[in-house]
Amino acid sequence: MDGIISVEENLGEVLSPDKLDEMIQCVTGWALLNGVQKKITGSEFPEQMEAMPFTMYPSIFPATVLQKTQRLHTIFQSVVYKIANDHEFLENCLSGLLEADDFTREFWNIYQTVRKEGISQPVSVTLTRNDFMMEYNDDGGQDCKQVEFNTFASGAGGVISAMTEVHKYSLSLAGISFKPEQLPDNYPTKGLAKGLVKAMEHYPNKSASILFVVGVPEPNTPDQRWLERDILQLNPSQRVIYKTFQQLLEQMKLDDNKILTVDGIEIGLVYYRYGYSPKHYPTEKEFQLRLNLERSHAIKCPTMAFHLAGCKKIQQVLAEPGILERFLPQSEYLDEIKSTFVGLYKLDSSESNTIISTALNNPEKFVLKPQREGGGNNLFGDELKSFLEKIKDTPEASSWILMDRIRAARHRNRLIRVGLGPELRDVVSELGIFGVHLSTKSEEIENFECGYLLRTKPEIANEGGLFSGHSCLDSPYLV
Ligand code: ADP
Ligand code: MG
Ligand code: MG
Repeated sequence: MDGIISVEENLGEVLSPDKLDEMIQCVTGWALLNGVQKKITGSEFPEQMEAMPFTMYPSIFPATVLQKTQRLHTIFQSVVYKIANDHEFLENCLSGLLEADDFTREFWNIYQTVRKEGISQPVSVTLTRNDFMMEYNDDGGQDCKQVEFNTFASGAGGVISAMTEVHKYSLSLAGISFKPEQLPDNYPTKGLAKGLVKAMEHYPNKSASILFVVGVPEPNTPDQRWLERDILQLNPSQRVIYKTFQQLLEQMKLDDNKILTVDGIEIGLVYYRYGYSPKHYPTEKEFQLRLNLERSHAIKCPTMAFHLAGCKKIQQVLAEPGILERFLPQSEYLDEIKSTFVGLYKLDSSESNTIISTALNNPEKFVLKPQREGGGNNLFGDELKSFLEKIKDTPEASSWILMDRIRAARHRNRLIRVGLGPELRDVVSELGIFGVHLSTKSEEIENFECGYLLRTKPEIANEGGLFSGHSCLDSPYLV
């Protein structure tokens, strides 16, 4: 890329401190105006917003890599669909870790209970996000490597939908030219909303509501309202209600026909933005609540089977020889999909000793991951080393996976976020591809890709959650 790794360097001049301050003010104002917002939790006002962390400029990004990840998305979704419907495979993958991992076992028990009772709602919808980081090839080009595939509470599709507008503005303020195709429109929530509206077409009672299950405190409300707004664009009479687990414990009922109501309102679809962390289940009551939601006649986004299919353990097994072939027999996409995998290793087999000692000697080359979501759970470097030392040769080892650390391609950008200076810094990005999958056990009804999330963080930060880490919303400047 001719050595240019930030759009700003195209300018050939350094921004003066005054000009930079003015830019930050203007661009932050534009971000707020366009809905790049999160809620200030703990504020005395009910709905007070601030700008999400974001990058001053779009980041230079290879168009071929974006196209590749978008092209492969429906294939990935089909694989996850097949796994979610393959009880034997799920059981074989997860059985080893269920004894060591109480939290995943609770989910497994919910899945098994409903399976044995008989599934009352045949339709299932999943909003997915497949996350990648970019690595340099030997020839100096970039390729994408999968970080993980999310099937549960895949967020930021709303707030990212405004970033293209923000970056068009910042480029024009800075006098940096671009062709329209370099900053394409990206509007994930239009597709995500279409997925939920299409799913509701399969629910008999047309006046039923969609339930958004949300957290307390919930900084993501603006992102969720983007989705609600796009649902209403498609179906103005669709009602959406937001409830926390605590509210549902008080207000939810399941009748003899498994019809779900909340405060007397019939629910046709349960969309989870909460319920992925052990912290969300402080008592047995929350697990019982999740079980009742799962056994209800409402459509789930996602079902427990899809939730479990998104486990990091499944990702590790999929990378074993012959497994992807089983789900994609004779597929022309097999090699391309495999090219996105980095090394993934189990820690509980007789052959694990070699990789464990390699990781203990080179912890900086690996990431140690539990079966958890939401950021902040993985171990890196010295922490990885001491924890791995502790769990190797114990049953606990089966609930973790080891993964090659992706050497993410470094570039430069300015990060606009509280607590970080706005100087041009070395950063790395993570690209997430959004998609919708609507199905029954026997049929894939909808399977489409619907845009992307680009997040950028300082190169030195290990994790990059938008809410839990150091990540900033970004958009690709395609070259
Ligand atoms: P979660 O489900 O909690 O988001 P992830 O697998 O996405 O878990 O890991 C969280 C973060 O850790 C990622 O967003 C990324 O910044 C970092 N990370 C995860 N896996 C790797 C990896 N193999 N190489 C480098 N960084 C990684
Ligand atoms: Mg995740
Ligand atoms: Mg992640």
